[in-house]
Formats: sequence, structure tokens, C-alpha cells
Amino acid sequence: GATLGVLGGGQLGRMFAHAAQRMGYFTAVLDPDTDSPAGRVSHHHIHTDYDDVDGLARLAGLADAVTTEFENVPAPSLEHLAVARPVSPGASAIAIAQDRIAEKAHFTRCGVPCAPYAVIETAAQLAAVEDSLLPGILKTARLGYDGKGQQRVKTRAELVDAWQATGCVPCVLEKMLPLEFECSVILARSRDGQIVHFPPQRNLHRDGILAVTEVHPQNMPKTVAQGAVNSAKSIANGLGYVGVLCVEFFALADGSLVVNEMAPRPHNSGHYTMEACDVSQFELQVRTLAGLPLAAPRQHSPAIMLNLLGDLWFTAEGGDKPVSPRWSDVLALPGVHLHLYGKIDPRRGRKMGHLTLTGATLEAVRATASQAALLLGLPAVTTADLA
Ligand code: ATP
Ligand code: MG
Ligand code: MG
Repeated sequence: GATLGVLGGGQLGRMFAHAAQRMGYFTAVLDPDTDSPAGRVSHHHIHTDYDDVDGLARLAGLADAVTTEFENVPAPSLEHLAVARPVSPGASAIAIAQDRIAEKAHFTRCGVPCAPYAVIETAAQLAAVEDSLLPGILKTARLGYDGKGQQRVKTRAELVDAWQATGCVPCVLEKMLPLEFECSVILARSRDGQIVHFPPQRNLHRDGILAVTEVHPQNMPKTVAQGAVNSAKSIANGLGYVGVLCVEFFALADGSLVVNEMAPRPHNSGHYTMEACDVSQFELQVRTLAGLPLAAPRQHSPAIMLNLLGDLWFTAEGGDKPVSPRWSDVLALPGVHLHLYGKIDPRRGRKMGHLTLTGATLEAVRATASQAALLLGLPAVTTADLA
């Protein structure tokens, strides 16, 4: 049988491997960790760094095509692999998604507006920042995720300190916008340029980390949803993108939409697609990689996804020792789908798993989400958060 390879062994790679195996493929994972969530469920696991040419050669020897679940894979490694095997998404798209400066330039080229920002790579650029960008968020151009690498700054003095604190690495300063809500669009684009997409997801972040995703046509204006889909398509077409792409947006009070960032892979806000849609984001990743036809996905149930962070493993009684939450009460609720990623060392702020809640109506799903949150001690998910 054919083997599909993936660079990165985290939960996204694990769910990719599950989808690939269901469709009859063998999987090969390359990850420096000896015990990774995806490595553990794959047929082949190569433990090397992402830039190790021998490891890459072994992956190319095992896999018929290679994708990535981790956007910080060095672009030269993807180019190296692409000589031997189809690699999607390609190195040039990943290189742009890895760097907020290149990413924002791409959005602008595609005619999709982003928050007002300034590039800060030099002391002169720091000094030239306009007052209108404050208060703002200083984001390192590379390597940030879950709000890491970001500092909120109110004054010029705070901005100067914040840039120094990064070690003066390339950054962008973004104006802090008053967000009405956040949403994201996940699409898949084939080698011949066909695009299919999921309905836009409405996302709630807490402390810079995705906490809740709700997907139902009633939870955002149609014009906003259509605008987000059109912008995501322009961005993918502009990259000549092949694979699954997620684009995150901010919706503002005046009904306008600005793009935040993109992820060149399946996304946490699309995990609900496994149970609430007839084709999941991971199956679409398999299809784009294997050159299989894409079919437009249909959401057949309203859905809410609740992220399960490591914090849940640390309770007052448990002290410093992680204790697994009791899942039985939550699993007794209707329409609860529990996903745990098999990470052996829970840490606060670390994504350990998620719950997807499905039901006949949005009201029913919201009621189940509230009960699940209460049982687990998660902050309440209110209608004001999501409606
Ligand atoms: P991810 O895990 O999604 O890759 P990240 O570390 O790349 O996260 P961003 O998506 O840039 O971070 O920002 C994280 C969150 O911070 C956003 O989802 C939003 O809630 C908030 N945020 C970021 N930029 C702005 C802004 N310009 N104005 C207001 N809020 C913002
Ligand atoms: Mg990001
Ligand atoms: Mg983000």
C-alpha cells in the first residue's frame, strides 16, 4: 500500500494519521521526539531533527508524498524532500506562513486588509513607529503560537522594552483592535486549483489560546461569513496553495473584516469537522496529498469544540502532581466526543485534547457545552461569548 509522510508528530499529525489509515494508507512521521502523539500511532517513526538530511532521505524513501503538521519546519527541508517526492503545501507557501512580515505582505498583495501594523527589524524602524499604532501588540515575526511571542504595549516606552525583551529579533507591531468576534475559514485546494471549504467557525480565545469554537450559520452575519470565505480563497490562490489552509480573521463592530494570520495545515478550530461534517479537515488533507478528488464538505450538525488544556490536570487536591480529569460524567451527556492526544506530561496551557459537542439544534449543543464546562470546571461558555 501507499505510505503518506508527515513532518511533525503532534496532535495534528496524529489526527492526520488516523484519517490516512482509515483510507488504507500507511503513515510515516518525522519528529525529533522519541514519543510523540503521531509517532505512537504511525507505522514508521523517524526520530531526527527537521533539518537532518539523513532523516529526510529516510522519509522520502518510505513515503510516496509528504505533508506537514508543524509550520516551523525549515523551508529548505521541504525543498530538499520535494526533489524526491510530492510535498504539499510547498516550501514557498510554508516560508510565507512562517514569517508574519512576509505573511502580511502576501495578504496585502491579495487585497485582503490586515490590522494596521509596522515592521520592526531595526532601531530606526522602532523609532519611526507612528503613535496611531498604540496601544498595540508586538509579535515576533517567527515562531509564535498560542499567544507566545506576543507582548501588549500601551506606550512607546513599553514598546521599546518589549522589543528589547525579544532580543531585538524581527517583529511586527499591530494596532490593538476592538474585536467584535473572531472567526476562521478552513479550505482545501487541490493541485489543479479546485477549492472546497468548511463554513466559517466562530472562535473564542482566552489568554491568547483558542478556547472555544462554535459552528452554526446563525452565529455570524452572512456577509461576514461570505467575506471571510472569499478572502481565504484569494489568499490560497495567490500562494498557488496545495493542501489544507486555515485563515484567521477579526470581525470589527462596523461589520468589516481584517485577516489575522494563516496556518498552512489543518487547524484547532477545525477539529469539530471530524464529527459534525461528512468529510473532516484531516480527510481533505489526505485527499489533497494523495491527489484524490475533493468533495465539498457538508456540516450535518451544529457543533461546539472545547479545548482541554493541561490546567485541567492540576486541581487544588492534586497539588503539583497531574491528575486526569474524571471523564465519565461528561461522557454521560448526549453528543459528547472526547479526544485525548496521548501526551504523557500535562502542563498548564498545553493542549491535551478537546471535546466536540454535537446535537440536533444549536440550543441543544450550547446546553451540553455549558454542562460539560461546569462538570470540568471550565469557564462558562455564555451566549454573549458566541451569539
Ligand atoms: P495561534 O496559536 O493562533 O497561532 P498566535 O500566537 O499566532 O496564535 P495570534 O493569532 O496572532 O497569535 O493572536 C492570538 C490572539 O490574540 C488572537 O486570536 C486575538 O484574540 C488576540 N489578538 C491578536 N492580535 C490582535 C489585535 N491586533 N487586536 C486585538 N486582538 C488581537
Ligand atoms: Mg499563529
Ligand atoms: Mg492565531
